[in-house]
Amino acid sequence: MEPVEALERVAFLLERSQAPTYRVKAFRTAAAVIRDLPDEELRRRAADGSLTTLKGIGPSTAGVVTEALTGRAPGYLAKLEEAAGAPLVQGGLALREALRGDCHLHSDWSDGGSGIEEMARAARAIGHEWAVLTDHSPRLTIARGLSPDRLRRQLDVVAEVNAELGDGFRLLTGIECDILADGALDQEEELLERLDVVVASVHSKLRMDAPAMTRRLVAAVASPLVDVLGHCTGRLYGGRTRPESEFDADMVFAACARFGTAVEINSRPERLDPPRRLLRRALDAGALFAIDSDAHAPGQLDWQIYGCARAEECGVPADRVVTTWPADRLLDWAGSK
Ligand SMILES: [Zn+2]
Ligand SMILES: [Zn+2]
Repeated sequence: MEPVEALERVAFLLERSQAPTYRVKAFRTAAAVIRDLPDEELRRRAADGSLTTLKGIGPSTAGVVTEALTGRAPGYLAKLEEAAGAPLVQGGLALREALRGDCHLHSDWSDGGSGIEEMARAARAIGHEWAVLTDHSPRLTIARGLSPDRLRRQLDVVAEVNAELGDGFRLLTGIECDILADGALDQEEELLERLDVVVASVHSKLRMDAPAMTRRLVAAVASPLVDVLGHCTGRLYGGRTRPESEFDADMVFAACARFGTAVEINSRPERLDPPRRLLRRALDAGALFAIDSDAHAPGQLDWQIYGCARAEECGVPADRVVTTWPADRLLDWAGSK
């Protein structure tokens, strides 16, 4: 295993196991430093112990590099691989097996930690045929939401990444677009039309009264521009907690079914949104679903298993899940709305 590969694998496994960002960052930074180093210099520094004099390389990352260069599996990595052998959650395997893509992930263009190509490569490496890049929209300034100009530039970058990656995987264009308080969408209509997939989510004024929130969500999911309703209740648990937004769930899910908008099953461990009782109601309403990672780092792409386990528990059939569809079917659906 190449040193860069070993460092990236360590980072992936740490992200997957919800390790704190600062711990992961050391390995991602070290990988970036090593990648730019001539092979000869790398070997010399590993031999004379001077790797740690490089900015961004510490004792543990230098250890991984040195061990990888000797041709052995680094001990630190071996330990992580062993822990990763155990499943993250019980159940969900059949649905996970059926997944072909992911409709919701972020890059460092907004609040993700990794570049676009790195995210695309990681999605391909876990077996996906496609994934949709959905960075935030302008109003979400704390997450560096993309202005129309930045989003236009991002479309060119996605095209370059696809050319680089070649056949067998497609990075699709998209956005996680804020649903404004009145149900309007936080991006230029012409741009939303050009994107392959639009996820629309509420990130502000989550506590508005139920009738207003119902109108807001129905307006968004009824829009022909919107394909997926992201994390519909906005609830958070774990560290930072936030109660569910209140709305008439049956009315919102009926609108999703009526207008062919998928209800997202958000797989982030602190979200797991919608909760099971609402997931069952969305199922009864006849809605489609998207099981999404909402990954902000490569290792988090593996979190889809959490959503799969919940979907399976609630009896969601694979064919109602758009993330099990081939890219062409997904694009037909999203384009025909
Ligand atoms: Zn969101
Ligand atoms: Zn997101």
